[in-house]
Amino acid sequence: MKWTRFLIPTLKETPADAVVPSHRLMLRAGLMRQIAAGAYAYLPLGYRTLRKIEAIVREEMNRAGAVELNMPAMQPLELWQETRRDEAMGETLVRLADKAFRRNTVLGPTHEEVVTDIVRASINSYKQLPITLYQIQTKFRDEARPKSGVLRTREFLMKDAYSFNPSKASLDEVYDEMYAAYCRIYERCGLPYVVVEAESGPIGGDASHEFMVVTDAGEDWLVRAEDGSYAANVERAEYAPVEKASGAADAALAEVHTPGLSTIDNVSEFLKCKPSDMIKTLIYDADGDVVVALVRGDHEINEPRLKRHLGANALALAAPATIERITGAAVGFAGPVGLSGVRVVADQAVTVMHNAVTGANKTDYHLTGVVIGRDFEIAESADIRFAVAGDRAPNGSPLVFEKCIEVGHVFKLGTKYSDAMKAHFLDENGKSNPIIMGCYGIGVNRIMAAAIEASHDESGIIWPINIAPYTVEIVALDVREQEVMATAERIHDELEARGIDTLLDDRDARPGFKFKDADLIGIPLRITVGKRGLGEGIVEFKRRDSEDVEKIAPDKVVEHVAGIIASK
Ligand code: ATP
Ligand code: MG
Repeated sequence: MKWTRFLIPTLKETPADAVVPSHRLMLRAGLMRQIAAGAYAYLPLGYRTLRKIEAIVREEMNRAGAVELNMPAMQPLELWQETRRDEAMGETLVRLADKAFRRNTVLGPTHEEVVTDIVRASINSYKQLPITLYQIQTKFRDEARPKSGVLRTREFLMKDAYSFNPSKASLDEVYDEMYAAYCRIYERCGLPYVVVEAESGPIGGDASHEFMVVTDAGEDWLVRAEDGSYAANVERAEYAPVEKASGAADAALAEVHTPGLSTIDNVSEFLKCKPSDMIKTLIYDADGDVVVALVRGDHEINEPRLKRHLGANALALAAPATIERITGAAVGFAGPVGLSGVRVVADQAVTVMHNAVTGANKTDYHLTGVVIGRDFEIAESADIRFAVAGDRAPNGSPLVFEKCIEVGHVFKLGTKYSDAMKAHFLDENGKSNPIIMGCYGIGVNRIMAAAIEASHDESGIIWPINIAPYTVEIVALDVREQEVMATAERIHDELEARGIDTLLDDRDARPGFKFKDADLIGIPLRITVGKRGLGEGIVEFKRRDSEDVEKIAPDKVVEHVAGIIASK
């Protein structure tokens, strides 16, 4: 492909709103362009990479025995009501209010319901199982903060696969195959990844792993044990219980005036206590019931974990009116002392606190010297907080935290969807059972951005060879020289004839300008053809990830490139 016949609108300036490297470089290299908040057009160069990632994903899915189909992005709301995920997904689900048709339609953020609907209509016997169906298709999510370019968008491409199994053992087998296929996909895409244990989120289920790329541009945290024995998503990470500090005698319970002070920071500063001396009291609405959660002042509540502990479908902080009704005080002064008639779940770290400070259930007042067992009882406790620096893994090894982005997710769903949607099959004995399901997602655009996060320098992208828009770029200097163009075109044609995709920069521009663009778009292998070099009987060969320049005879360079690619 000739550059002058293609569309590569590179930018000299860094766009002001682009902060993370992949966003900046994808815009500057002319790979994509924002059309609306969270929606991007993939320009020809970027689209080539997207298609290459798609091809790798498709090959590995087919190799793992999955069967491709295509489901509509537009889905009946009714299916979402069957599993009650219309509520669980909340605002993220994109609905189309207005006319009757639109009121009853959503833009699919994922396809469990639709695929289960297809399977319940077409599969009824164990003889048809197991089967894994997949598609590579556009998803819609009204992400609260679409940002960081294509790392998190409202419209994105996902490979989503769903397995339907007759038994738990069959699911385990498919899960392991998918896990292995995912590892091959990321390896082929040249992406450094870490597999972590994960919480299964709104999709539910019991066993799940996430594939993470460690990068400062990510919004997730992964937690690793320093001794390498354990890695998990921060939502899931297990930690050793907090031990009871020994010593201090019981203090007297006292009510203190804290006018207008309703945050942990304000109150701890005012009362000269540590946030870790305070009990934070959070009041939730869990499927319409009020639940009070207690965590230490310096800890953050882990809502997915609380939700799992409660077995709730929808969990959200209660409305101010509910909080006022339960506590008899303004929002910000809730505490466990004297609360009655509601379910209270205390985090394990709260159970070992002593002489604590907490809200008094009275506007503008807190309590100090709170002693568990004397001033209030803990009837129910669980691990409902996020791990923090200083925590240890269950085996005692210190936990290390790293920022990351999720590029893929596999989970065992069990019968969540088949139960709700009555997707049953008849087993060998003629007995009807719910089909056991798994689901497996990969963010195709996100792989592209994550690959750039993992592989770039100040000058631009350094594409992993298998997902580069082109494998080779030929930079023709002195394009008005007939011999230069004839040689460049001949090398181009020979490479293409061998199936090596090649971009020929035939623009009539200064060498420095063209080299800058070459570094920016990051094609892995570069051949420079110039008048002076040809005079010496050579062209120059350079890899994007190295500074070395090799001088090679023009009729040897194609063989040289083919050798490098074959050795990959
Ligand atoms: P995240 O935690 O990053 O929001 P998720 O857990 O909601 O992701 P899944 O429902 O597991 O995502 O979707 C499967 C895959 O789709 C993810 O592993 C990710 O690679 C990709 N993905 C999810 N949301 C987005 C998005 N808003 N933009 C781009 N890719 C996404
Ligand atoms: Mg996920």
